[in-house]
Amino acid sequence: MGTNADSTPWLSLFREHPGLERCVPHVSLGEFPTPITHCASLGTALGVKGLYIKRDDWSGSQYGGNKVRKLEFLLGKALQDGAKEVLTFGFTGSNHALATAFYAREIGLRSISMFLPQPNSWNLRRNLLLGYHCGAELHEYSSRRTLALGTIYQTARHTMFSGRKPTFIPPGGSAPPGIVGIINAAFELRDQIRAGVMAKPDVVYVAVGSMGTAVGLTIGFEAAELDIRVAPVRVIDATLANAERMQTLARETVTYLRSLDPNFPTCHRAQMEYTLREGFFGAHYALYTKEGMEAVRLLREAEGIQLDGTYSGKAFAALLGDARAGNLTEKTVLFWNTFNSRDPWRTMPDVDYHRLPHRFHRYFEEPVQPLDAE
Ligand SMILES: *Cc1c(COP(=O)(O)O)cnc(C)c1O
Repeated sequence: MGTNADSTPWLSLFREHPGLERCVPHVSLGEFPTPITHCASLGTALGVKGLYIKRDDWSGSQYGGNKVRKLEFLLGKALQDGAKEVLTFGFTGSNHALATAFYAREIGLRSISMFLPQPNSWNLRRNLLLGYHCGAELHEYSSRRTLALGTIYQTARHTMFSGRKPTFIPPGGSAPPGIVGIINAAFELRDQIRAGVMAKPDVVYVAVGSMGTAVGLTIGFEAAELDIRVAPVRVIDATLANAERMQTLARETVTYLRSLDPNFPTCHRAQMEYTLREGFFGAHYALYTKEGMEAVRLLREAEGIQLDGTYSGKAFAALLGDARAGNLTEKTVLFWNTFNSRDPWRTMPDVDYHRLPHRFHRYFEEPVQPLDAE
């Protein structure tokens, strides 16, 4: 771990745009580059020319997933701003809120998680217990309105006790500073292609929640002059993730980067081009689908890689659907694995759920959703 001075030379983005290195706050938390796995026999079985997986599930030695890349920049900025506490938002099983709690603690910051309810699952239970173990203050609200009021209240309360307003981190970490971490990932992939780790993929499949990962990769591939199509698979309500909102986020991110380094390219295409893959979302956010769980099972059995039912399983189901329809026979395909596969729970002391705020007990007392057998 370190700050700008000792850690940044490894970042592909900064090697390419040294102007950014001087002014973009960053703290090293993860382990990069993440490896790429070649799934030769699964690719053959599916009739795909080349099938590869970008192992962002190993982006950290203790806790991985796509949020680590964003948090290196978001928490870097929080440190630079002198923050003592960070406050973030998500649904109750949020991997983002957990990653924030986990890495905030690593760098000596306290964290507050503001949740809205979601369908029950084992992953949600594990995330809540680990978040609690990491010292996160956990709150859940029944509606957006009470969440907004609760945020005002908690902000006032924490400001009074710690003498400083908590630093807000948006849902999923998908604000321009966080997305810079994903843009770096695109440059990282380019370096790996140049080093012969894999041939340039024709298409990258990725799950879309708060949109930052898909937007960041699209900007990054254009900035790195890589002709790679992003297939963004929507796994959250269409009011939250849609083409228009992705364009806005892309525009804001490019504007942010160009305000720091005018040499960063304008990336016109990335500000326009979003066609979300529909049809894999199912009925509700975090409600697992049959196709998604089949995709989870298939990858576990073929490669020993664990996906989740909320995001990565649904995205991999889209890839499977396209492969089986014969649309990928001539394609080199990269699946961007956004889910954490490290096991920080292994070393966690048993946390009794009764120690969580009362409101969360029901998740441990009511059954998990039917498709979440384990
Ligand atoms: C957050 C998350 C995503 C979605 O990434 P966004 O940048 O929010 O679109 C995908 N997969 C997993 C496992 C996640 O936790």
